[in-house]
Amino acid sequence: MVRSDNKPAIGILGGTFDPVHFGHLRTGLDVVEQLELAQLRLVPCAMPAHRDNPSATAQERRLMLELAIKNHPKLMVDDRELLREGPSYTVDTLESLREDYPENPLFLLMGTDTFSQLTTWSRWTQILPLAHIVVMRRADEPWMLSNQLSEFYEQNLASEDDASLKAGKVWSFPVTQMGISATAIRDRLLRGDDVRYLLPDAVISLIEQLHLYRAKTASS
Ligand code: ATP
Repeated sequence: MVRSDNKPAIGILGGTFDPVHFGHLRTGLDVVEQLELAQLRLVPCAMPAHRDNPSATAQERRLMLELAIKNHPKLMVDDRELLREGPSYTVDTLESLREDYPENPLFLLMGTDTFSQLTTWSRWTQILPLAHIVVMRRADEPWMLSNQLSEFYEQNLASEDDASLKAGKVWSFPVTQMGISATAIRDRLLRGDDVRYLLPDAVISLIEQLHLYRAKTASS
């Protein structure tokens, strides 16, 4: 990757992180390496715009993230969505990041499942002027895009030289295939099954300590 600018490139990975797992962390790190990002900011959403409310509270999800990335020099938790009222719209987050980092290349990371929903997002056409989009592609994953999104993808596809631009291109990188989802982890915990090696041990300990994702008993 050739980057002629001297402003560090910043990655952003938004999500519910309910809970954070190795599927988020390893794939995020794959992109950090491939794009030589200076940092990856993990941004937990307060109230997701496109799904049911999370099981764990915002503070619990933030704490799990902090434990998960502890001591990694390039990963950090960015809690700006938790400090904002109302639904968490990515475009608002990017506007706020752009104010903080006016000259840095910003890269918004997302899985293919998330990218395929992009046209349903609030003010989605305003995202690319604020940041690059990086689609994390998992081998063998179906890549089904609407005509509108295929066109958007083709028209804005990046070439390697575009890495020093501040925003405006769509990138697609193969990442480590990890068939892990937070939904599957919550389901396992609800059944009382073992979740080791799906997420960091420190996060599992906190889940146990706070009795998260357990079946509700009559008294709870
Ligand atoms: P849930 O199962 O509750 O929907 P999730 O595991 O998909 O959650 P999110 O917090 O919703 O996690 O995802 C945040 C981002 O991480 C999304 O862009 C999603 O596409 C991506 N992502 C989640 N799991 C993986 C994975 N195993 N590999 C690559 N990307 C992932």
